[in-house]
Amino acid sequence: MAIEKSDKLKVLFLAAEADPFIKVGGLADYAGSLPKALMQLQRRSFGNLELDIRIAIPFHGRIDRNKWGIKFLFDFPIIEKGKKTKVRVFSTILGRLTFYFISRQQRERSLKSAYLETNAKSGRKFAFFSIASLELLKCLNWKADIIHANDWHTAFAVIKLAQIRKNDPFFSKTKSLLTIHNLAYMGGGSEKSLADFELNPVYEATLPSWAQKQPLPMALVVADGIVAVSPSYAQEIKTAEFGYGLERLIKKRGNAVSGILNGIDYEKWDPSADMCLERQYSIHSNDNRKFNKVYLQKYFHLPIDARIPLITIISRLDHQKGIDLIVDGFKSIKKSVFQMIILGSGNSDLENKCQQLEIDIPDKVRAILKFDPRLADQLYGGADLILIPSRFEPCGLTQMIAMRYGCLPLARSVGGLKDSIRSGFNGFLFEEFAILDFIRAFRHFLVIFKKEKKTWAQMQQNAMRTDHSWEKSARAYARLYRKLKAD
Ligand code: ADP
Repeated sequence: MAIEKSDKLKVLFLAAEADPFIKVGGLADYAGSLPKALMQLQRRSFGNLELDIRIAIPFHGRIDRNKWGIKFLFDFPIIEKGKKTKVRVFSTILGRLTFYFISRQQRERSLKSAYLETNAKSGRKFAFFSIASLELLKCLNWKADIIHANDWHTAFAVIKLAQIRKNDPFFSKTKSLLTIHNLAYMGGGSEKSLADFELNPVYEATLPSWAQKQPLPMALVVADGIVAVSPSYAQEIKTAEFGYGLERLIKKRGNAVSGILNGIDYEKWDPSADMCLERQYSIHSNDNRKFNKVYLQKYFHLPIDARIPLITIISRLDHQKGIDLIVDGFKSIKKSVFQMIILGSGNSDLENKCQQLEIDIPDKVRAILKFDPRLADQLYGGADLILIPSRFEPCGLTQMIAMRYGCLPLARSVGGLKDSIRSGFNGFLFEEFAILDFIRAFRHFLVIFKKEKKTWAQMQQNAMRTDHSWEKSARAYARLYRKLKAD
């Protein structure tokens, strides 16, 4: 079908978290920056793109209503477990984008965390949110062309849409797009929530039976389009190693599956304007970076010497992120000259391991076990190297942020890390998830940092110049939206 000349595209973007309102991980960066980048594309007149993109997230208790000028809009009922339940809708406008915040009732706002202890509880919250978001469109009389859902939390909306579209003229032309940020989280345990909202299991020959009742796999069967957050990850999830039993389905979905590398928000992540830094700097004023490094050494009571390589880890402490490899690796090279500041929180075993490393090597290691965005910025802006040894990494943002700040990534060659880092040019990659491979790459870094100063300076410049802004990828999303609408 031909694309009309002025082709207004309406997209409802659904996510569990969005920066700056609430952030737990990279999903918040994505949801806070892709819609903005798409709006900017439109201003730069991308073809005849006229885009109306609105974002809905759950009204989590931690979201500060006053700070963001969030106003109550209206309420309406939806059916849950055969009974009417009230949906409360709030809204604000930020950077010309409309955000909707949806809550079940006041009580839910009292729960401070975005994700609850079990998938059964989270499922209840996110299924409600997803179904209410679809219903919200009717209340607004706003017929979206695309429902863009993200991960299992909002996959419920994709399933519901596929179920009702045939018989509901309001949604007859609406298409769904599902972005996979992490296939490992499928929403198992939330089966009851599917039943509460009358979402029927999806039967599909390539799906293992356990997956027929889990929101992410179900949505992967029925979504009109599927995006994995990097081209490599889009390929990896077709293999048994990374597909977790869904590889046959993903292969079968064929051209419906594409890989688009995430970008980062260059306005937010800008060392020349980042007020969290002791000193702002740019590619032309890199000396200020050294000042930031020394500040970190002083602050964390480490020996003060800009010649000592300062390494950082900024990460959720989760099995996926491979932090155990680093801890074990550093035990065997603790005599090397380095300093390391670990910023992370999550799994208590991994937290203990990091703490133990600080106890074992007290003159070199600091473990800061919390989520601290300000400190994260200071580490990006002062450390020389960031370690990202992930077992798997759908995209990863920390390597891109770090490069923008002139902090080189040393990462496992997997998923989006592989797609965004060129080893020896703007960072260091190692292949196997093995201590020896990691140590070899780390020694390579040490040689360049200490002995090949020109190469080091060049690599740092290369990293800072590498373009990881959203522009290219936002164009890919815009093309995909158009294609879905036209199909
Ligand atoms: P994931 O989404 O898998 O956690 P990403 O690399 O995609 O990993 O994104 C992580 C985001 O969370 C980055 O913006 C990073 O700076 C931030 N982050 C991770 N851990 C912390 C922490 N302990 N304190 C502050 N920010 C953190």
